[in-house]
Amino acid sequence: MNKNHFSFVLLAALSTVIVLSTCWQFWLEDVIAGVVISGHEPDSFSRRLEYVVSITVFVAISLIFPAMVGFRLIDNHNRLIDQIKRLSEQDYLTGLNNRRKIHEIVENEIFRAKRYDSGFTVILLDIDDFKATNDTFGHNVGDQLLVDISDIIRHTIRESDNAGRWGGEEFLIFCPVTELKGAVSLAEKLRVNIEATEFADAGHKTASFGVARVKPGDTVKSLISRADNALYAAKTSGKNNVVASE
Ligand code: GH3
Ligand code: MG
Ligand code: MG
Repeated sequence: MNKNHFSFVLLAALSTVIVLSTCWQFWLEDVIAGVVISGHEPDSFSRRLEYVVSITVFVAISLIFPAMVGFRLIDNHNRLIDQIKRLSEQDYLTGLNNRRKIHEIVENEIFRAKRYDSGFTVILLDIDDFKATNDTFGHNVGDQLLVDISDIIRHTIRESDNAGRWGGEEFLIFCPVTELKGAVSLAEKLRVNIEATEFADAGHKTASFGVARVKPGDTVKSLISRADNALYAAKTSGKNNVVASE
């Protein structure tokens, strides 16, 4: 139940009490009390009105406390739902989408691409010689490098793009309504930004990129597999390179 539903229930309760007490005072009391109690004298109009007004005020005041408690419970509930949703979609180290979420985004976009005949492109980024950073400087420096590269990705991509951590030191960038050429220039921009950065402790690092555009009949697996093959080509061509799957 959200806040609007809860307010509606409270207002419905208040209106029901007002309607019932008005009906009782101005109609039912004469019918029932007149039959049941002998010599029943109907109240004056002002006494009846007074009764209805006082019952309305009493019920309104007695609803304020449950309303406050109810709103607070709903807020806490919504906050918890948001937190659970965030935890289930976010990579805990980098704060980017996790693999589950970015997989879901690409999967939905494949359906949309089919339905609306639109298109999109993905970029697979893999940090070069990441194991060497771990082995030389330790896991904490490796972790910090992942965080710093995630920040570069976050600041380089467009707001409409989406990025996630695909694996250990691999990231997937989803570029909606983007042709291969546009995604290749974004990958090139990322490559240059990473190469030009002096990372704390890890020093200078590079990354390799595989770019693939969605094709009719694609699944997430087939699309990522093309990006992965392009990434493999970028690695075997000497790393620090962008290769597009044609
Ligand atoms: P290449 O240039 O061919 O990509 O080599 P690489 O060393 O980058 O790749 P490789 O697959 O050999 O090693 C990746 C390493 O990443 C191995 C794994 O221990 C490490 N790793 C995976 N996840 C994390 C993490 O969350 N934190 C840290 N510090 N290391 C991680
Ligand atoms: Mg890798
Ligand atoms: Mg690597």
